Amino acid sequence: MEGDAGAPLEEEETSILESLSGTIAPFLTGEGIDAIDKQGYWVRDDDGELTTPLVDGKQCVYACFSDEGIAGCAIEKAWEKGLCDFRKPLSCHLYPVRIQKYPHYDALNYHRWPLCDAARVCGSKKGVRVFRFLKEALVRKYGEDWYRELEEYFILSGLKT
Ligand code: SF4
Repeated sequence: MEGDAGAPLEEEETSILESLSGTIAPFLTGEGIDAIDKQGYWVRDDDGELTTPLVDGKQCVYACFSDEGIAGCAIEKAWEKGLCDFRKPLSCHLYPVRIQKYPHYDALNYHRWPLCDAARVCGSKKGVRVFRFLKEALVRKYGEDWYRELEEYFILSGLKT
């Protein structure tokens, strides 16, 4: 519900979202459907970046809510039911890591936001490193070999595991 733009999208994800319109429709909220009708399945933000549209400048159009008011993702709900192979946009899967693309490499930056304070406390108590929490998403983007190298580098660096 916070922030001024939706989730960043990869170019190819725009057509995936369009192709999944019928599959995810049953999981969307009424206001999400209205917002998609007006804006489409994706938009360009003020910086020209591809993102998911927002409902009245608040939550992502793909957000859905349980009876207890817990937010979820309509795309992921469809994926959980085995209705599609696409789980959710990569940037959502990777959050709180954000990709900054440069001509010859990607920089992976940790996005520190007070909204995630509780998760940081929980991860710290359980001894879960962010990159391990994000293993599935990192493998999705960069592959198994890349992730294995990251683990090896981390251990060789002498940082506490
Ligand atoms: S996880 Fe789903 S609801 Fe949340 S920002 Fe990403 S696409 Fe939108």
